[in-house]
Amino acid sequence: MKHAIEELIPGYIRGLPAYVPGRPVEEVERELNVRAVKLASNENPMGPSPLAIEAAKRALSDANWYPDGGSKALREKLAARHGVKPEETFVALGSSEIIDLAARALLRPGLEGITSEKSYAPYSLAIRAAGAELVLAPMRGYTYDLTAIARRMTPRTRLVYLANPNNPTGTAFGHDELDQFLGEALPHILVVLDEAYLHYADRKDMPRAEELHRKHGNLLIVRTFSKVYGLAGLRIGYGIGAPEVLSVFRQLKTPFNTSVVAQVAAIAALDDTEHVRRSVETNRVERRRLIAGLERIGLQAVPSETNFVFVEMGPEAPRVCEELLRRGVIVRPLGWMGLPGAARISVGRPEENDRFLAAMGEIWPAHAAKRELAER
Ligand SMILES: *Cc1c(COP(=O)(O)O)cnc(C)c1O
Repeated sequence: MKHAIEELIPGYIRGLPAYVPGRPVEEVERELNVRAVKLASNENPMGPSPLAIEAAKRALSDANWYPDGGSKALREKLAARHGVKPEETFVALGSSEIIDLAARALLRPGLEGITSEKSYAPYSLAIRAAGAELVLAPMRGYTYDLTAIARRMTPRTRLVYLANPNNPTGTAFGHDELDQFLGEALPHILVVLDEAYLHYADRKDMPRAEELHRKHGNLLIVRTFSKVYGLAGLRIGYGIGAPEVLSVFRQLKTPFNTSVVAQVAAIAALDDTEHVRRSVETNRVERRRLIAGLERIGLQAVPSETNFVFVEMGPEAPRVCEELLRRGVIVRPLGWMGLPGAARISVGRPEENDRFLAAMGEIWPAHAAKRELAER
């Protein structure tokens, strides 16, 4: 008997929505014939560390050799930096790979994975792609509600994804709240704590994740080189967790998951504390300016612990994003994430943020009147 190929693919995979990335600058420039700025994917607008660029260039001449599939040099550096053993670290093809491996290692049909609504779409996708049931907990306002997540744990739950600070809402929870949650989480549940934006957080009581890792064996910390380190295009990230979990990841991953170029660039980026400091400081100043600029035209952004701002615009949001795009300003409409009235704007360089604010100044007043009508 002959089957259409789609029929051979499990229904839970066929039904998956694709991740919608930010539009590339070149594509928008060609299509709309404008000079574009991209404030859509939370990259570091200052560029990579110059030390990382140098290291990557030098490594290119060794590109005929396979990389160290175990990323030993980078893992030793990470272990020293975080006060853990090398076997408690795992280097991955971006944090995306760890999010994926966690679901593949722990979930299957009949089991459950939990995350929050209004959070990072790859968590939901990973849970569903493993055939498990996706359980979404509500938020408290725009912030993860760990109590609501704890209440949804069952004997079938194996995995919880937490983004802290969260993408796309930009909020964070604190150390004590997470400590208590981990104390309540059943020992058969792996808690994945994704700290992609940690460097940008101003909150004083952010979780001391390494300390919680020592205290609770079921915590997996995920970090990336894609944000403050400015290496999103090289695809590299890492995890810190129990060796028993990470050794399963080593069995599952492709043999050479990260390139030699990415590995040496990551090592150099870790040493460039000045680049990190400058990136965080610039972001802090520019983030404040973006939020104030939005406020001046009557839009209230959610207070942000990240390198982006989240703002509710009401039903006009998709049209506002479209008009920004026509003016060459790429932001992220969030309708595909179930937030049709919201947009996320990455903090760019000063002149890029100026372009966004100038364009919003032209676009928003006409829509503001319509929103008021809709809210009556
Ligand atoms: C950007 C981002 C990452 C980074 O993903 P990579 O695969 O490391 O580029 C991870 N988690 C969240 C929540 C993010 O927003």
